[in-house]
Amino acid sequence: MSEIQAIYLKDYKKPEYEIKDVNLIFDLHEEYALVTNRMSISKIDESVANISLDSIDLELVELWLNNLKLKETRYHYKNEKLTILNVPTAFSLKIVNKIYPQNNTELEGLYKSGTIFCTQNEPEGFRRVTPYLDRPDIMSVFTTTVIAEKSKYPVLLSNGNKIQCHDSFDERHGVTWFDPHPKPAYLFALVAGDLGVVNDEFTTMSGERVELNIYCDLGNESKCTHAMKSLKESMTWDEEKYGREYDLEIYNIVAVDSFNMGAMENKGLNIFNSHYVLADEDTATDTNFMGIQAVIAHEYFHNWTGNRITCRDWFQLTLKEGLTVFRDQSFSADLNSKDVQRIDDVKALRERQFVEDASPTAHPIQPESYISMNNFYTSTVYEKGAEVIRMINTLLGEENYRKATDLYFKTFDGQAVTTDDFLWAMSKASGVDLSAFELWYHQSGTPKIHVKESYENKIYSLTLTQEIPNAVDGSKQKPYFFPLKISLMNSCGTIKVEKTLLISKEEEIFEFTGLSKNCILSINRDFSAPIIVEQEKTEYSFLMKHDDNSFVKYESAQSYAVEMIESLMHGEEIDQEYVDAFGYLLEVDVDLSFKALLLELPSISTLMQRQEIVDFELIYKAKETLQKHLASIYKEKILELYRKYHKPLNVSIDAKSMGQRAIKNRCLRMLGALDDAEILRITQEQYRDSLTMTDRVVAFDILENTSEELSTPVVADFYKRYKNDTLVMNKYFAILAASQREGTLERVQALQNDEVYNEKVPNLVRSLIGVFARNYKSFHAKNGKGYSFIADKIIEIDQINAQMASGLCGAFKIYEKMNKINKGVMKRELERIISTQSLSKNSYEIIAKILKTH
Ligand SMILES: [Zn+2]
Repeated sequence: MSEIQAIYLKDYKKPEYEIKDVNLIFDLHEEYALVTNRMSISKIDESVANISLDSIDLELVELWLNNLKLKETRYHYKNEKLTILNVPTAFSLKIVNKIYPQNNTELEGLYKSGTIFCTQNEPEGFRRVTPYLDRPDIMSVFTTTVIAEKSKYPVLLSNGNKIQCHDSFDERHGVTWFDPHPKPAYLFALVAGDLGVVNDEFTTMSGERVELNIYCDLGNESKCTHAMKSLKESMTWDEEKYGREYDLEIYNIVAVDSFNMGAMENKGLNIFNSHYVLADEDTATDTNFMGIQAVIAHEYFHNWTGNRITCRDWFQLTLKEGLTVFRDQSFSADLNSKDVQRIDDVKALRERQFVEDASPTAHPIQPESYISMNNFYTSTVYEKGAEVIRMINTLLGEENYRKATDLYFKTFDGQAVTTDDFLWAMSKASGVDLSAFELWYHQSGTPKIHVKESYENKIYSLTLTQEIPNAVDGSKQKPYFFPLKISLMNSCGTIKVEKTLLISKEEEIFEFTGLSKNCILSINRDFSAPIIVEQEKTEYSFLMKHDDNSFVKYESAQSYAVEMIESLMHGEEIDQEYVDAFGYLLEVDVDLSFKALLLELPSISTLMQRQEIVDFELIYKAKETLQKHLASIYKEKILELYRKYHKPLNVSIDAKSMGQRAIKNRCLRMLGALDDAEILRITQEQYRDSLTMTDRVVAFDILENTSEELSTPVVADFYKRYKNDTLVMNKYFAILAASQREGTLERVQALQNDEVYNEKVPNLVRSLIGVFARNYKSFHAKNGKGYSFIADKIIEIDQINAQMASGLCGAFKIYEKMNKINKGVMKRELERIISTQSLSKNSYEIIAKILKTH
């Protein structure tokens, strides 16, 4: 492992060269592709003699400098660099090289997804395509010609506008694309295939007409309607909210099945995991529909936050991701329910980012070093990054925030910049001093805020103390500056004080005078800061009933349930007050999607995060006991709610219908805990009669988790219906891999041999192997078989697709917190992985951090 090296932010150096323009020709064949790369390069730093281009697995055919073919003494290729010696101040370089997209299982650079040629170049895939200065601060104008066999690849796409079609080559044809906007190589894209397409158009606010196309596998065109609608909604929203307009004549989206990530914002040619494009009510759940809307928006918004203004280096990733996630969250909140959106965002943050932040792989949203950049596409950089932007938005206020983003776009358009540049614009336009706020970019770990309250002489006093965890290397970290929204209510629920407190010191005391009676505190309203709040006393049932802030209402219901589950873990009883408060939630008249969230019990992950030493068996048992207790007490009421909103023939995806499905499926899941014959019959009916995938997967999941007898016919039926639809089959594998019944590991192992399963398709690996690794019960089985299976898979998949493998390594992040028995068996497996010959640097980096051997 001696060649594995870390890269540091402090070592950043300005580019020595610039590439004015790039002209690429791709000659695509079944066994190989020939790439001709012509670049106009000039020196920025006159003192340098040689140029080193990034290149992985280079198979060089020809190399020309200023129309002279270079002899082998003029260049060398080693350590993934093609170095050309003694180059002039300005020169043209022509490189012809051969690549093998058909054999590319890493899915980085140019590869084949089924019969489609496509690319994924962020962060460092382009160096697998052709030698280049592959860093985001090298921005260039690209002209691209794609040539391929006409019958197999009638559709040939690249970035920008289509400028020429070449039909002269007999069975082969070509298309030339020109992108006038300078861009880094990570935004380069190419697609060739026999694809179906859905067209539409959009007129921008300044009256420019844009052609919109969504490409997919032939026959799937009707499933692109929702994606197209979402695209147009995104374009309108960005004009209204941020004054940002689209800037090319054409916007293309292509859906492919084999894709490492969710989607990629390549300039004018987004490439999407088909999971985030294709949907209809028979094959996609309501969650899928919402996901499509959010991801289409996210990639579209990158056109300004990412593409027009890009990152100087990869340490700045959160500059484009944190900001763009915040933008897509705001978009979804505006188009759907604000309350539900905020709770869903916070849930996602806590499930993934809080866990990461408490683990050995914790890092600031702007990391200081990396071994494999692929490992830093994390929930910290994305979701915590978005929370940081949200806090800036709160500190500035809407009006100043808009002024500040306007200034950011105006000042840095066409440049590759840093998070400091962003903060400069935020501060400059608003006059708000953000110097103390910068720590959010440089520290890791989730701050804990301890709350103390007192009331004396009509003065209510609030003492807040910040507890800041040490960094991963043990070094001390400083207190943060952040906005904390609070309110004080009287015993009737009337708000007496509502404020955004600015917290900056380790301890702060706030006093509120003129209050004739003691008040009840509602804290971190709207989750105004990504912190953990620890209160001495809490009025959960009061807040569940009276708080007008939907987030605090939800939070109180969650925290109260956590307290009850923990009591059960310690052998104590469930409070009647909690049971009554839960009964109140069943009756409360609020938005149905929000109500479904209020009735949800805390996740295993939430409970696990609160334990010093984790024992999943204990957590599961306690949660199950509470679930059964509530379901049996309120069976009739829950059943009544279910019946009221169960409309099996309604396939609409409007907010009202989705809300009805959310609440009645929450009810069915609660009742599912009872193992009651009547409920199981209702569940079977829902599976059989409902026309939506949302209803079908919930019923399937409940039956799968009940008994083999009930599961077997549903498994068979679902398989028969959907075996030709890979996207739906992902749900099938995921439900079976998440099953809490005995024997899940053995069934998962057998499913690997199913004809639909394919280890080279990331979605399928995520659904079967990835979901199993998050099935705490089976994965953490004390016999160690779950660990050993996942370790085998990591070692095997690492050879196919290193990015997939290092993603799976994340399942072991909890290592340090496990109880003695689990920790012992886990250690053995971790050591087995890290001692594997030719382990990728991706997997090495994660496992070394977990074992603290780096
Ligand atoms: Zn993004």
